[in-house]
Amino acid sequence: MSLLSVIVPCYNEEENIRPFFQELVKNDSFFQENQIDLEVLYIDDGSGDRTVEEIKKLREEDERVHLLSFSRNFGKEAAIYAGLENASGDYAVIMDVDLQDPPALLPEMFSHIRQGYDSVATRRVSRKGEPPVRSFFARMFYRLMKRIAKTEIMDGARDYRLMTRQMVDAILSMQEYNRFSKGIFGWVGFRTKWLEYENVERARGETKWNFWKLFLYSLDGIAAFSTLPLMLASVAGGLFCLLAFVMIIFIIVRKLIFGDPVSGWPSLVCIILMTSGVQFFCTGILGQYLAKTYLEVKKRPIYLVKEKL
Ligand code: UDP
Ligand code: MG
Repeated sequence: MSLLSVIVPCYNEEENIRPFFQELVKNDSFFQENQIDLEVLYIDDGSGDRTVEEIKKLREEDERVHLLSFSRNFGKEAAIYAGLENASGDYAVIMDVDLQDPPALLPEMFSHIRQGYDSVATRRVSRKGEPPVRSFFARMFYRLMKRIAKTEIMDGARDYRLMTRQMVDAILSMQEYNRFSKGIFGWVGFRTKWLEYENVERARGETKWNFWKLFLYSLDGIAAFSTLPLMLASVAGGLFCLLAFVMIIFIIVRKLIFGDPVSGWPSLVCIILMTSGVQFFCTGILGQYLAKTYLEVKKRPIYLVKEKL
């Protein structure tokens, strides 16, 4: 027998806990045929509703259900990490509780693992049901990341991913505090099979992500997997030196021909404003990386447990 750990981050998802489990156990006959035992780790990410009670109720009915409850909301990235850390399976899969990651894909995912893949990941090829502005910025983000990050980050990749124990251990060995899973999965390498599917809309409840949160998350992703923005300061500096040199030549020549040294006050102000703007911008970027480094060196725990069943 081999063991499959299903990791399910939940934040205020009381009405999704049970439907998710019902959908998951529709694969039971497949699991039995393939001698796979199941453990379902619901990670309660500091929910304020009845999520924990629902999980406990489910646990009374089925002992394959486990609960790990955080002391407060630490975010989905922390929940994923906690899930992987507490999983004892030979395989682990991460799934959203809102059924946007269809459990019906599991048999197909396992077939690829059998063929020798270390991980089977999913990406959605459509973004139907999503606000167009959000899709636009998402696409821009992935295009930018493709350019500036050395790690491959798939467009539309979801966190829905089946992994072998070896890959789970590799991910756990990355102890960083600023976690950006989409990048971490790519960074550890291993052979990954990509499955594509049409976007499925959330079954019940509301998404926890608004535009602003996603925007900040994308900045986290950039800071975590690219240092190219730090180069911007040097590049801008170089460009301004070049510009200054051209200007100096221009002014000297003009003085020699027209003999008019005083004019040019407006252009001077523009130049000062422009260069100081660029300087602030570059300092800001530096500040971003410094802030990340600051959080990293403090070595705070990624999550804190309140209850474990
Ligand atoms: N989630 C979480 N902590 C959070 C936010 C979300 O554990 O702070 C969980 C949430 O319960 C769900 C999954 O992460 O199972 C994906 O969240 P959501 O459906 O809101 O994101 P979307 O699918 O819209 O990207
Ligand atoms: Mg969702």
